[in-house]
Amino acid sequence: MGDLKKKRIITVATTGAWPTKENTPNVPIEPEEIAEEVYNCWKEGAAVAHIHVRNDEGKAAMEFAKFEKVVSLLRAKEDCDIVLNLTTSGGIGLKEDDRIKPFYELKPEMASYDCGTMNWLHTSVFENNPAFLERLGTLMQEVNVKPEIEVFDPGMIYNAQYYLKKGILKGPLHFQFCMGCAGGIAASTKNLVFMHDCMMEVAPDSTWSAFGVGARAMEILYAAVAMGGNVRVGMEDNVLYKKGVIAENNMVFVARAKRIIEEFGLEIATPAEAREILGLV
Ligand code: ZN
Repeated sequence: MGDLKKKRIITVATTGAWPTKENTPNVPIEPEEIAEEVYNCWKEGAAVAHIHVRNDEGKAAMEFAKFEKVVSLLRAKEDCDIVLNLTTSGGIGLKEDDRIKPFYELKPEMASYDCGTMNWLHTSVFENNPAFLERLGTLMQEVNVKPEIEVFDPGMIYNAQYYLKKGILKGPLHFQFCMGCAGGIAASTKNLVFMHDCMMEVAPDSTWSAFGVGARAMEILYAAVAMGGNVRVGMEDNVLYKKGVIAENNMVFVARAKRIIEEFGLEIATPAEAREILGLV
């Protein structure tokens, strides 16, 4: 294991809740497709897999059986040690118990923790009410699953501070700065610097990662690498590889992130190194 300060974690989010086969035929939807894609992304250099599943109609869902299938397929691949991170937000308006069950039962090393409620894409409410966040944090501690604290605006960083003080979250925290989703903070370098400043005020021993959705995704990718952060890529956040070009698969995003990290003079973290950085071991 080399100098961990020089290592950057690539998280791949292959599927998410939104893109359909109509948006891009290349998005993995079936559990077998998702597991295979994650495996291939691991071969390209992804250290963490952020996993969503879909129902039989290909729509956003928190169906336990689908998570169980993806997780068991990946755990059956003996050479693959990628860190599993299950979403707790597989869509809008889903039952809280359904959002909790996958991480509680399957015990991945990480699960997402969306640290506040927001208007989502000008169409709906992405609800993470205070009682739910308290329950989520408490149950994650109970089964030793590390929260990946997804923050869509600076206010959510201060929510994390509150839950840290209350003991609902335990430090060191790991943040994912989710930028450019309508309803949240716009994706820009200036905003990323501000989000990072807020995090340093709240919990300076935190680790962090970032991604941008849409036209400024590359700006956030480069800025995160330059600022000392980790990165997330994949079709959950962007189906286009670049303007007007649909990505062939998720591996091309991972390969590009790896090239950027290495050109910067850094190295990608292996899953074992990611575990050290994130305090999972
Ligand atoms: Zn997600």
